[in-house]
Amino acid sequence: MAKVFLVGAGPGDVELLTIKAMRCLQQAEVVLVDDLVNPDILQFAPANCKIIPVGKRGGCRSTPQDFIQRLMLRYARQRKTVVRLKGGDPMLFGRGGEEVAFLAQHGIGCEVVNGLTAGLVAATQADIPLTHRDHTQGVTFITGHRRDGSQPNWPALVAGGTTLVVYMGMQNIGLLCQAWRQAGMPDSMPAAVIQHASTPQQRILISELSRLAAEVEAGGYGSPAIIVLGEVVKEKTWRDTLPHLVSAA
Ligand code: SAH
Repeated sequence: MAKVFLVGAGPGDVELLTIKAMRCLQQAEVVLVDDLVNPDILQFAPANCKIIPVGKRGGCRSTPQDFIQRLMLRYARQRKTVVRLKGGDPMLFGRGGEEVAFLAQHGIGCEVVNGLTAGLVAATQADIPLTHRDHTQGVTFITGHRRDGSQPNWPALVAGGTTLVVYMGMQNIGLLCQAWRQAGMPDSMPAAVIQHASTPQQRILISELSRLAAEVEAGGYGSPAIIVLGEVVKEKTWRDTLPHLVSAA
């Protein structure tokens, strides 16, 4: 039976790819690749493999989702080994659920291979532990962008007190900061922005809610980036104050 592999490529660094993802790529005959995927990852696909970019960056217009789905179906029906390669994890803000359902409706099996999600890697790159017994009991992965333009229930999320890891929030950072304040988040809430996490272009901003939007603008930070809000960001600030944290090398 034809099968599609829905594979997470992680946020950038090739070495963060899972061995399973690498094996899928090695077997691939067709790879449909999203724009946030580091092209270096395609080195694992065979030389004669058909690579089809289906993303909106790099000047092309976004490839509509139904077109991508039809492409997957077409190649799967030709009995090709199809890898649908997505940035981060396919099941977290990656439309993985929609694609699995679509394939199932058409009688095509699908195996999902997890990737490291950007929020997890971004926080680690910034020396921020997402949970910490002194600060919070949990973490919430959330998008600042909803299909219908509506906002998440920020007051409930702020009251919950978990670390907030915000995806796709950079375009509306000013409005989001306003919404977080209105939702009861204190101005002094530690905040971080990690752009292009785990790539050579990585940039990190450590700030707090009151200054966040202004510093993002002044520093020219943009997408793709993760915003982390929570007391855990202080752990980074605290580490930076250590006088002699010398690397072992
Ligand atoms: N499925 C992906 C998320 C796709 S949504 C995952 O699990 O990571 C796209 C958003 O992911 C971007 O707007 C940004 O918020 C985040 N993102 C993806 N790659 C990133 C990177 N290298 N650095 C920072 N944020 C990234």
